Amino acid sequence: MKQLSNELLEELIEDSLPYASEGAVRPVIPFYDETKKDILGITVWTGDASYHAGNTDMYVPMQSTAKIVTLMLALSDFGKDRVFEMVGMEPMGDFFNSISQLEQNHTDKPFNPMVNAGAIATSALVKGGNVEERFDRYMQFLRNITGNPHLEMNEDVYKAEKSNGARNRSLAYFLQSTGAMIMDPEEALDFYFRTNAVMMCTEDFARVGYFLANGGREPETNKRLIPPEHLRTVKSIMLTSGMYNSSGQFAVEVGFPLKSGVSGTMIGAVPGRMGIGIVGPAIDAKGNSTAGGALIKSLSQELGLNMFGVD
Ligand code: GLN
Repeated sequence: MKQLSNELLEELIEDSLPYASEGAVRPVIPFYDETKKDILGITVWTGDASYHAGNTDMYVPMQSTAKIVTLMLALSDFGKDRVFEMVGMEPMGDFFNSISQLEQNHTDKPFNPMVNAGAIATSALVKGGNVEERFDRYMQFLRNITGNPHLEMNEDVYKAEKSNGARNRSLAYFLQSTGAMIMDPEEALDFYFRTNAVMMCTEDFARVGYFLANGGREPETNKRLIPPEHLRTVKSIMLTSGMYNSSGQFAVEVGFPLKSGVSGTMIGAVPGRMGIGIVGPAIDAKGNSTAGGALIKSLSQELGLNMFGVD
């Protein structure tokens, strides 16, 4: 077993970066193009020290990593029973924006909050008088848990999400037809698009992971913002569904809760130990960073982080 250090992270980045060539950058994200392909950065936050290597100052949209923040808020606002009346907790085993799975589920609700349909359903479960108020609460919460008061949504990314949002709209309206959408679908979508467009860097992603890993405490005050029960729920669902239809493989190879986004980001939460933030824009067909995936697997092995036992 090795010790966590910047040197170790640099070595692992060097070994993982070649995997970027197996992926592709998602072109619908503004300012994402092939020149971003060979970027890889990581921050590990242990509560008292930050370790990092590679490109850690690139701000990228949260994309699907936002789903865990929305779920935390929905659980605080409505409680577990109500949230899981509207969305399931089972792995879907298909692409994150699958439409056919919605109908095949036979429960009238999306499989889980980590896929698009599920996150659109939980977006409707964040309290506030209108979308601005609800999104303000989201931003305030995100700034609190990362300890970064400067986080903002990027207007261009938001517009791109909206104008490329036909698929997500279809999901939202389907949910309305089955009764799994408790508000105007456009309102829920608007909130969902905004959350996807918030810009963060590896340090911010690592801080979200640490918040989940370490009892849901606000970094500034150490005050508990989310009860342990909800954190357990979010981490369990991250483990079973956070990496879409590669979640099983990541549970085996990495062994702790993860959430990815199509901007090539990844949040890792190693319970009681550390938060991990990765940015590696080249993604595979399922939506996960190829170099980031290689990196998190080797990090877990080298540091013995697998929750289910180490060699
Ligand atoms: N904005 C993307 C979408 O809604 C996010 C998907 C993802 O990161 N997997 O489709």
